[in-house]
Amino acid sequence: SLSDRLTATFKNLRGRGRLSEADIDATVREIRRALLDADVAVPVVREFTAAVRERALSAEVSGALNPAQQVVKIVNDELVAILGGQTRALQFAKTPPTVIMLAGLQGAGKTTLAGKLALALREQGHTPLLVAADLQRPNAVTQLSVVAERAGVPVFAPHPGNQGAETEVVIGDPVGVARDGVAEARAKQHDVVIVDTAGRLGVDQVLMKQAADIRDAVQPDEVLFVIDAMIGQDAVATAKAFEEGVDFTGVVLSKLDGDARGGAALSVATITGRPIMFASTGEKLTDFEVFHPDRMASRILDMGDVLTLIEQAEKAFDAEQAEKMAAKVSAGEDFSLSDFLVQMQQMKKLGSMKKMLGMLPGMAQMRDQLENFDEREVDRVQALIQSMTPAERENPKIINGSRRARIARGSGQTTTAVNQLLERFTQAQKMMRQMSKGGGMPGMPGGVP
Ligand code: GDP
Ligand code: MG
Repeated sequence: SLSDRLTATFKNLRGRGRLSEADIDATVREIRRALLDADVAVPVVREFTAAVRERALSAEVSGALNPAQQVVKIVNDELVAILGGQTRALQFAKTPPTVIMLAGLQGAGKTTLAGKLALALREQGHTPLLVAADLQRPNAVTQLSVVAERAGVPVFAPHPGNQGAETEVVIGDPVGVARDGVAEARAKQHDVVIVDTAGRLGVDQVLMKQAADIRDAVQPDEVLFVIDAMIGQDAVATAKAFEEGVDFTGVVLSKLDGDARGGAALSVATITGRPIMFASTGEKLTDFEVFHPDRMASRILDMGDVLTLIEQAEKAFDAEQAEKMAAKVSAGEDFSLSDFLVQMQQMKKLGSMKKMLGMLPGMAQMRDQLENFDEREVDRVQALIQSMTPAERENPKIINGSRRARIARGSGQTTTAVNQLLERFTQAQKMMRQMSKGGGMPGMPGGVP
């Protein structure tokens, strides 16, 4: 995966003040590869990697993250920003009905989406009407009727007698049906109308003209461009054609349940600047969700929940303390009991991340450590360390038998507890010395019971 490759790229880089240009270029190559693997369009990849390179060059090295994580975070932040940052909700008309028109190639998932959207809206208390303005394919009206029935909403369609031809011919008047459908919604007080339209396998002018005519006839509040996530490199041309031909206010990415890594999302968002609003994730009407830019970013990068983990680690770990400790360790200074206490407190914060740690390559061991981590232990350790003199904290070697007894009394614990703490501390100190020679994650020491 990308995170493995980046970790390998940065294996020998630790504790530097800034990422070097050569390091960044090596990273950018990996990112380019990951984006192309995810089927992001080539010009979009170029633009994106240039932006990442620029940001990485000026980034300060964070105390909480290693260089690989840091670049991953920059890449992720950029991706999330382009994919829309916060997701946008549907805009409802001030005066109902809100008209939502669907556009996209044949097979993109428009009709299925009409049902999904209708069901979701109905569950939110709306009263949607579906309008069958796809009169291109013989079965289109029937298909929408089936979907409407499943969603429990009515459908407005031309009379069944109007269709049934086996060849692909224009039956009836889709623009008229769309217009009548909206009028029907207004008359019957449906607060939302979803207009399903026809699509062709490829972009063509007749289709585009029809879609534009429907748009002009119904004046939609939202035009949702539905695009198959598997479309790959064709995403750019298709999105551009629909942007010029009909224009759209939002994007729906369909078939995200498949293998597609979702590069189309980045391509469409970059090229059109329109928000991706929903994701379709299966054939069932409930396989539908609000689009999450952050999830899509990690999918494109193929990193599972690594990014979430990194973010939480960064939040949990006080950067300043991490830097101090890193400086100490790299200066070969000894790791004190006060440092040990700080580490344990950090571990307590990380406790909530147990599950995710298992997803990080090489972090399974750490997960097991956290599994056995007793949060109350931090309080006991804190009491013990606070019962020590500053000299004892800095140099535990001086803690002899009588000091141990005094610390035990002061903390309300037994001398055995003091002994155990000092043993664990010695182990942690050893680990910190190893880490300072390389390997391991900064800020995630082994100071765990
Ligand atoms: P339209 O031509 O744009 O109206 O596309 P349809 O809604 O008819 O969908 C085309 C095919 O894709 C149908 O077989 C749908 O069941 C299927 N489909 C639509 N959305 C999804 C999805 O999110 N995931 C999967 N796996 N299949 C989908
Ligand atoms: Mg359809």
